[in-house]
Amino acid sequence: MDFNLQADSREISVFRKEVQEWLQENMRGAEELRWSATWSTRENEEEYGFRRKLARKLGGRGWLFPMFPVEYGGGGLAIDHQLVLESELDRYGISLAAVFYTLARIVAPVILKWGTEEQKRNFLPPMLRGEVSVWQVLTEPQGGSDIATCRTKAIRDGDHYVVNGQKVMVGYHHPPDFLWTLVCTDPSGPRHENLGWLYIPGNSDGITIQPMRLMMGIKNAVFFDNVRVPAFNLVGGENNGWSVANTHLELEHGGEGRVGADPLVERVVEYCRETRVAATPLLEDTSVRDMIADMMIELHVVHLFARRNFWHRYVREPHPYGGAQFRYYQRMVRLRNGERLQQIMGYHALVPDLTVNEVVDFEYVVRSGPGMLHGGGTLDTDRLVFARRVGLGRPTKEKAPETI
Ligand SMILES: Cc1cc2nc3c(=O)[nH]c(=O)nc-3n(C[C@H](O)[C@H](O)[C@H](O)COP(=O)(O)OP(=O)(O)OC[C@H]3O[C@@H](n4cnc5c(N)ncnc54)[C@H](O)[C@@H]3O)c2cc1C
Repeated sequence: MDFNLQADSREISVFRKEVQEWLQENMRGAEELRWSATWSTRENEEEYGFRRKLARKLGGRGWLFPMFPVEYGGGGLAIDHQLVLESELDRYGISLAAVFYTLARIVAPVILKWGTEEQKRNFLPPMLRGEVSVWQVLTEPQGGSDIATCRTKAIRDGDHYVVNGQKVMVGYHHPPDFLWTLVCTDPSGPRHENLGWLYIPGNSDGITIQPMRLMMGIKNAVFFDNVRVPAFNLVGGENNGWSVANTHLELEHGGEGRVGADPLVERVVEYCRETRVAATPLLEDTSVRDMIADMMIELHVVHLFARRNFWHRYVREPHPYGGAQFRYYQRMVRLRNGERLQQIMGYHALVPDLTVNEVVDFEYVVRSGPGMLHGGGTLDTDRLVFARRVGLGRPTKEKAPETI
């Protein structure tokens, strides 16, 4: 593993300059915005509009999905270019993945792996150009960890599937252009061999979306009532949804990796330098300094895990247990940091600060910690996957599924 840039350094420095100049021009006005977190209820129309426009602009240049093939709307660039793009955008307080905070970044590689050529040519370009928002729609009321129990039925009727059922805890607070949905295509078929994946236009007749207001933001319940979806939109083939699920979940459960750093510690240090208790800056307190040092160390490890996974993914060498390891650790660190913030600043950690980016708002870190342990698969799922991949309790080590 090598985190250094490999491509000819002259080419990369020219590219970096191009990116910097482009961002200077196109991020104008961004300093007025306060980036909100993925499920936020704070995001206003201005921020949403800015993100969507930015996604289209980046997508138009192939920079939203820099390493995807050009023929599908990607940039056709190397890992080094992606690292440059990620790090330059990071300076504006937003990551490439969060620019257009839909799940397209996971859905696109799954379509690339499992879609037919015709599906790739139809579905990928608008996604890669940043034009469509996509929700991942997997969880059902009877249980999310065991998604193979899927009860939302999609029954073939001529050249359509007719979908009926319900999903919960999905999406964001702006409506989706598409739903990326696990369905049961053969209700009497054996477990794991009775599933399919549909890419469903969000405006199809028979879809009702009902917001669920959670502690950390907005999710939704989605009801399907005789929704007719073209059979063309079944990705991965008849009753092959479990294979598609494996690719999707591997990416969602940490295998995707990340390169951006977490700006939280910088803000904590700044806060503790400026805030005085009995005329002494908080930073002079040795117990506060200890806690900040712990935060720094743990966030640095999170960053290294994330970067390692990013690297493994892009050189196409799946790390057997890296995804689960990263996700488990990252979420525990977030929870611990919420506790540390409360110890350092007392009740001030429970008061939202609307003047800063939500991702570094102490109150949001505290409030979202518990919910994050559950989102996109629970800590128990991470532990189970980790154990299977390192061969605990099984005669052979489970392999990581291939991703793209
Ligand atoms: C913030 C947030 C965002 C989300 N976003 C989405 C989204 O965009 N799309 C989507 O489809 N879903 C989403 N979800 C749903 C999420 O994926 C599920 O909540 C999660 O998979 C767990 O499912 P569940 O809530 O049904 O809990 P359950 O599966 O019912 O689990 C209940 C408890 O039992 C434990 N448990 C279950 N099975 C086992 C086992 N085999 N061994 C040990 N312990 C076990 C779990 O860890 C948990 O503590 C989101 C959830 C949250 C909180």
